[in-house]
Amino acid sequence: MIVQQKINVTRSSLPSFQEYCKEIQDLWETRWLTNAGVKHKVLEDDLKEFLVAKCLTLYTNGHLALEYAIQALGLRGEIITTPFTFASTTQAIIRSGCTPVFCDIDPLTYTMDPQKIECLISEKTTAIMPVHVYGNLCNVKEIQSIADKFSLKVIYDAAHAFGVSQKGISAANFGDVSMFSFHATKVFHTIEGGCLTYHDEALTKRLDELKNFGISGPEEVSSIGGNAKMNEFQAAMGICNLRHLDAEIAKRGAVVSRYHERLSNVKGIRLNSVQPETKPNHAYFPVLFDGFKYTRDEVFEKLAKEGITARKYFYPLTNSFTCYNGMEGFDPDATPIAQHVASHILTLPLYADLALRDVDSICSAILD
Ligand SMILES: *Cc1c(COP(=O)(O)O)cnc(C)c1O
Repeated sequence: MIVQQKINVTRSSLPSFQEYCKEIQDLWETRWLTNAGVKHKVLEDDLKEFLVAKCLTLYTNGHLALEYAIQALGLRGEIITTPFTFASTTQAIIRSGCTPVFCDIDPLTYTMDPQKIECLISEKTTAIMPVHVYGNLCNVKEIQSIADKFSLKVIYDAAHAFGVSQKGISAANFGDVSMFSFHATKVFHTIEGGCLTYHDEALTKRLDELKNFGISGPEEVSSIGGNAKMNEFQAAMGICNLRHLDAEIAKRGAVVSRYHERLSNVKGIRLNSVQPETKPNHAYFPVLFDGFKYTRDEVFEKLAKEGITARKYFYPLTNSFTCYNGMEGFDPDATPIAQHVASHILTLPLYADLALRDVDSICSAILD
């Protein structure tokens, strides 16, 4: 089957041009463009409500939010994390002067396997940083009980989990801190952006200071901060996008259903299923090609020939990045399940406006 137009793995949602213009119009009156402006305040409140988060701080991107969370919690030493993630998670740990210790993943949810955490804990361990991969929530209960037993902090990389809830509890409520990314490719975006959610109100002042050069008063700089503030144009984009989010997720859901109709029960193809009692956000459509008539790389090439971009996500594992060559503890062989998944998984195109006939073409290209 010939696909007429190129299909990318994702396509950013946008409000109408008019809606965005209307939202930013008053910025030409106020000339307040950044530093906790009016839009920033509105978005913070809207998101607190949407995510059911007690405390929330906005950032110019998700990655810096993660680095500032590590700094604000004063983490040192070793942080137990997963290699099956985007570069950001591991880079944030290392750039903050901490050492990542890699834990293998669960073969069904692709999230950190809590059974394998305890044996990685040493006297240097200060935190666990798991990832809600593809919006699949980690085993938060077991992770928390390990953290409590060993007095460790938990920071969730929830970049994929915006809008996900389990048993009525929003993903924003687990661990000490959760980070959400609002990058243009995510389910909800502010072009670039992100936030931290947390329960400890005392963190708010510290986080607000750290993301603004450590400035604590008109004539006082009390901590060693940097700059990670969200500006008013980003916040305005978020305010608009949030209005349409439920509809966007519903449209993504229809695409996901079509994929399931076409690809389930095919030998050697494993689809991701929604976890029990979970409200999904349909952020990604990962497919594991394991024992299928074509390898993952062959499927990737077949699709590319038809103008369809899939993504080897996450591949390679972060513990095999060339920038860490020769560093102790960076060994993909030590996380064999993650290694297997990384070499067999492909995320297929998924966005709200992906036409169902395009989903059919994609599936035919895979199956033919
Ligand atoms: C997108 C993403 C990030 C980084 O977020 P940015 O907003 O792009 O900085 C971190 N972790 C994961 C798992 C992501 O997917």
